[in-house]
Amino acid sequence: MAILRFRALEESMHRVPVKYEAPSNLISDYFGMNVFDKKKMQKYLSAEAFEHVMEAIEKGARIDRKIADQVASGMKTWAIENGAVRYAHWFQPLTEGTAEKHDTFLSFNEQGMAIESFSGTLLAQQEPDASSFPSGGIRNTFEARGYTAWDPSSPAFIFEKTLSIPTIFVSYTGEALDNKTPLLKALHALDKAAVDVCQYFDKNVTKVIATLGWEQEYFLVDEALYNARPDLVLTERTLMGHASSKDQQLEDHYFNSIPERIDAFITEFEIEAYKLGIPIKTRHNEVAPNQYECAPIFEECNLAVDHNVLLMDLMKQVARHHNLTVLHHEKPFNYINGSGKHCNWSMMTSTGINLLSPGKNPKTNLQFLAFLVNTIKAVYKHADLLRASVASVGNAHRLGANEAPPAIISVFIGAQLTKMLDELERKVGNKKMSPDEKIELKLNVIKVPQILLDNTDRNRTSPFAFTGNKFEFRAVGASANPAVAMIVLNSAIAEQLIEFKKEVDRLINKGVKKDEAIFQVIRQYSIDSKPVRFEGNNYSEEWKKEAVKRGLKNETNTVRAYDFYLTDKSKKLFTGLDVMTERENDARTRVRWDTYTKKIQIEARVLGDLVMNHIIPTAMRYQSELIRNVQGIKELFPEKDFSEIAVGRLDLIRNISEHISYIKTKVNEMIEARKVANKIEDEREKALEYATKVFDYLEDIRYHVDKLELIVDDEIWPLPKYRELLFTR
Ligand code: ADP
Ligand code: MG
Repeated sequence: MAILRFRALEESMHRVPVKYEAPSNLISDYFGMNVFDKKKMQKYLSAEAFEHVMEAIEKGARIDRKIADQVASGMKTWAIENGAVRYAHWFQPLTEGTAEKHDTFLSFNEQGMAIESFSGTLLAQQEPDASSFPSGGIRNTFEARGYTAWDPSSPAFIFEKTLSIPTIFVSYTGEALDNKTPLLKALHALDKAAVDVCQYFDKNVTKVIATLGWEQEYFLVDEALYNARPDLVLTERTLMGHASSKDQQLEDHYFNSIPERIDAFITEFEIEAYKLGIPIKTRHNEVAPNQYECAPIFEECNLAVDHNVLLMDLMKQVARHHNLTVLHHEKPFNYINGSGKHCNWSMMTSTGINLLSPGKNPKTNLQFLAFLVNTIKAVYKHADLLRASVASVGNAHRLGANEAPPAIISVFIGAQLTKMLDELERKVGNKKMSPDEKIELKLNVIKVPQILLDNTDRNRTSPFAFTGNKFEFRAVGASANPAVAMIVLNSAIAEQLIEFKKEVDRLINKGVKKDEAIFQVIRQYSIDSKPVRFEGNNYSEEWKKEAVKRGLKNETNTVRAYDFYLTDKSKKLFTGLDVMTERENDARTRVRWDTYTKKIQIEARVLGDLVMNHIIPTAMRYQSELIRNVQGIKELFPEKDFSEIAVGRLDLIRNISEHISYIKTKVNEMIEARKVANKIEDEREKALEYATKVFDYLEDIRYHVDKLELIVDDEIWPLPKYRELLFTR
């Protein structure tokens, strides 16, 4: 095995960058060339079919069979002209990542001749066997069928010579088995609720979309070194490895230029992303060595989610051309920063107004204030559920460790807006505002734009921060499908906006003027949700204490965090908005428990194997060598000098023995703990047992392995070390 490490090191040192040419220097020349977008639809579809698809995209109108046939035919022609040899319904099951079922266009015509064909039926609906995807009990074996159904709001694209059609994935009984279905429903609910509120300010608003701009962090590792680490291959994270003497302490990686090979990789995936219509805008080094980030220009939320999961696949594929492996895991390496996926979120009207961007006049500013405060209130009400939406085995290593927002969900809005809301609140005592106060308030609102432009203070520790014209949800994990967090966020805001409209209307019906009614409700909301606002250092111990006093939850246990999905409040949110039925929500929670259990189980097994088969034999080999050495000394030197000469060596031998004994004992205990956990029938209890009884062994055992790594002869150490993994050029 040590041979593999050295071979991998050797290989990794002789890599040369593989340059990749863009079709043109101008991205706009080829942006979206592999996407069946509006322009191509117009060219390949009849005017009638085109109009129907546009209606479906904008208003969610149904597409009938005849039109679907026309669309399929146009899509097929375009796809074949552009090199596609097969098609696939592309969907996002409840596992992480994407799935697809490929078919060729081959069929036979009436004369028995082979032709390429693709019908509206095949475009609109498919029937992949659902039995190999998690369903949380929704799918019984007797109804193993699942259906994928076309989502016209996300355009088809060609990826790896396959015409890929974004679809939802539902069970035979019509229940969602994927992430896209509830996301689309949440976005629909938000659209409706936000349009209703916008009507107070502008009657021309007919649609509101949620916008999402994600920032994807990731690590790169040389492929050969990755392959020499079974823990990376099987779990995407290193289960052992001593810290490198130098890693991120000099904070030099962040500012360094990107190494040539890495740059070649990034360039290639960016070019391929542009072809797929993914508008990547920025790339840069991140804090940890080998860590990078990319971010696109924001898009409509559903499309942005599709683009994120597609890009993650694309990155993995392109990395291989450069002998690199991409790690999207939240914590591939201990001791250095992990990876997140900041989700920048806002709402945009059909009239082109960003609802979280302060406007140019009092009316749009009041609108801004309304959406701002409603967002804060929604986050306050559903903070626990938002916490649950980012909970995962991988993300548990980040949340609460001093590099990522804590498990306490709070909102940062900056000093100026805080001052403004504080002023609003002070006036609450008065039932009716004096004319002077009204003017003052309005002036305050008018002042918003300059205030925000000056407002450069940024709180990097807040999980949910206002950044001038959007909120940034920073607690999302790098490997997560962002749909999961977006389902919760958009639902929470939708529910809140509905509530807001009800209260404002109630006041209006009582004879209060519209603007004042809006002011009054905003003021009350601002007071109600004040506990969730926090401007200080979220990493500090004081905040944890303070948060408890404010009644905010700090659930650091992933499995317990999932419980927040099952509260009455959460159920009401999903069912009330028709985002998910109770059965769908329950099923997802079961999938979460099951995934949790399996992932920790795999990590525990991999660690156990590596320790017993790699680490202990290596340590014993070295120890035997030391023992032979000591025996030699004993033969060579007089008795009286022996102990003085051999003392360091004897300590080493003893030290190694202690570590080995400790590791062996703990591995056995861990196996026993797994046996106990595996017998538990209840899925939640089982996951909880893994979280509380098995998980701790991983770090405990690792500690001693990492100590051995420092002692044992480097020549025989089998696994690539952190210093070797982390400085890929
Ligand atoms: P940062 O300082 O965090 O890098 P940027 O202004 O560069 O901030 O934006 C980061 C991300 O926010 C980008 O992905 C960008 O597309 C996204 N973003 C900007 N405006 C919006 C918006 N209105 N809605 C959603 N995302 C947005
Ligand atoms: Mg950011």
